[in-house]
Amino acid sequence: MNRFIYKKHIPVKRFGQNFLKNKTIINKIIQKIYLNKVDNFIEIGPGLGALTFPICNIVNTITVLEIDENIISFLLQSKYSKKIKIILTDVMKFDFQYFFSLNKNILYRLVGNLPYSISTCLLIELIQYNSYIFDMNFMFQKEVACRLLATPSSKEYGKLSVLAQYFYKIIPICSIDKYNFFPNPKIDSMFLRFIPYRVHNQNQINRYFFALEKITRVAFQHRRKFLIKNLFKLFSQKTLLKFNISPFSRAEDVSVHQYSLLAKNFLKLYDSF
Ligand code: SAM
Repeated sequence: MNRFIYKKHIPVKRFGQNFLKNKTIINKIIQKIYLNKVDNFIEIGPGLGALTFPICNIVNTITVLEIDENIISFLLQSKYSKKIKIILTDVMKFDFQYFFSLNKNILYRLVGNLPYSISTCLLIELIQYNSYIFDMNFMFQKEVACRLLATPSSKEYGKLSVLAQYFYKIIPICSIDKYNFFPNPKIDSMFLRFIPYRVHNQNQINRYFFALEKITRVAFQHRRKFLIKNLFKLFSQKTLLKFNISPFSRAEDVSVHQYSLLAKNFLKLYDSF
């Protein structure tokens, strides 16, 4: 057998096809994300069904977003095909806003072993739909997972940590070493669960996301510079001090809560113009 073929499929590198093959790990993930028959799952990149099929064993239906037509043919021939609603799409071009707004009463559960090349961009996009989401359950390369979980004053702490942790409680589900995938990627992975904090409506989420994204982008642009140098166009020394932020600290020393206070202040000023 050709050693590059897996379940009669040749993995496509440009689609980040590293298929999860360890059943013990798959079972652990399935157990820890607590499935219910009536859950509204959207899976990003179902591949050859490593997560899709065990989910189908429990839920009534699952929607999958997949870019590879060969994978779609494979899914259509599977014994679960009646349960799987397939959307052939590039998830980076998919209109989540439109999709979620079609049925505003549904809270979606997102799941996926995300292709490494798009995982960070995709997550930043999805963070914004907090009000439509019941939870998100994603595999990331370990380095990205560490950034997502990072605490202040660490080198991993940055824009991604602040944006994700402000909108979601993030729970590590398990670490997975690279030998559990086919083909092996170069790096280990971690599976994380994101549970939204329900503190805002969608309009407020959009506003806070806008403000936090802007502030953290500017603050972390030059990590080693004093905060006042990075943020001088947005905040005065007095405003920073009001929130117990030393103007001579660095972006990585500011907590998620302090960034949220800055965002609130920023929005107040923004509205007054
Ligand atoms: N879920 C499967 C597993 O765990 O074995 C496959 C995971 S594999 C890492 C990533 C999957 O995402 C592949 O099925 C790949 O074709 C799909 N994919 C890659 N880029 C995509 C994109 N831009 N839009 C939708 N699907 C994509």
